[in-house]
Amino acid sequence: MSVVIAIDGPAGTGKSSVSRGLASSLGARYVDTGAMYRIATLAMLRAGVDLEDPAAIAAAADVPVSVGFDPDVEQTYLGGEDVSTLIRGDDVTRSVSAVAAVPEVRARLVRLQRELAEGSGSVVVEGRDVGTVVLPGADVKIYLTASAETRAQRRNAQNMAAGLPDEYETVLADVIRRDHLDSTRAISPLRPADDALIVDTSDMTQAEVIAHLRNLVEQRTGAVR
Ligand code: C5P
Repeated sequence: MSVVIAIDGPAGTGKSSVSRGLASSLGARYVDTGAMYRIATLAMLRAGVDLEDPAAIAAAADVPVSVGFDPDVEQTYLGGEDVSTLIRGDDVTRSVSAVAAVPEVRARLVRLQRELAEGSGSVVVEGRDVGTVVLPGADVKIYLTASAETRAQRRNAQNMAAGLPDEYETVLADVIRRDHLDSTRAISPLRPADDALIVDTSDMTQAEVIAHLRNLVEQRTGAVR
C-alpha cells in the first residue's frame, strides 16, 4: 500500500532529520519543501532582487528549482547547479521567510510540490503547509512541535558542533522571529491541519520520534510498503 505522509511544524523540531529518517525506514520518497523556498531565495539574493519589495520578488518567482527524492542524500539544484550547502547559509536563512510570504512564489512551488508528491510508492513531504494547503488529502498528517527554548538549544548545539560560537540568545530570538513571520503571514500561515496528529518532540530523541511516527503511520494505514 502506498501512503502519502505530510509532516509540518516550525524550525528546530528536528523535522528534517525525522522526516528523512521516517522516509528511509519506510522505503518512501522524500520531498523537502523548505529546500525549495531556500533555492528560490538563493537565486533572488544572487540576482540582487529587493527582498523588501514583494512585487520584485513576485516578478522573479520563475526560478528553476529541482530537488531529489532520496531521503539519505540532500539533492537540491538551482538550474544545473548543486546548491545543497549554499541554501543552508545564514543569508538564505535570514531572507527565506520574506520570499515564502509572496503568493506568486508559493503558487509556483506548491504546484511543483504536488507534482513531486504524485507517482508510485509512498512519499513523505515535509514543510509548513503540506497538511493544510499542498496535500490536504494526505493519508497521515503529522505536526511536530517543541518549545522555542528547546528548538533554540538544538540549533545552537548544531552550530557549536560546526565550530560556530555559542549564541543561544541570538538563536532563540531568530527562532521566535521566524515562528512569528511564518505563523502570522496572510497566505498559508504555519498551523496544524484540523486532522493532524500533534507530536511534541521536546523530551524525545530523534530515534524515539521516528519510532513513534512509524507507529502512528501503521495505526492509521495498516502495513506500509
Ligand atoms: O524547513 P526550512 O527551515 O528549510 O524552511 C525555510 C523557510 O521556508 C521557512 O522558515 C518558511 O518561511 C518557508 N517554508 C514555507 N512553506 C513550506 C516550507 C518552508 O513557507 N512548506
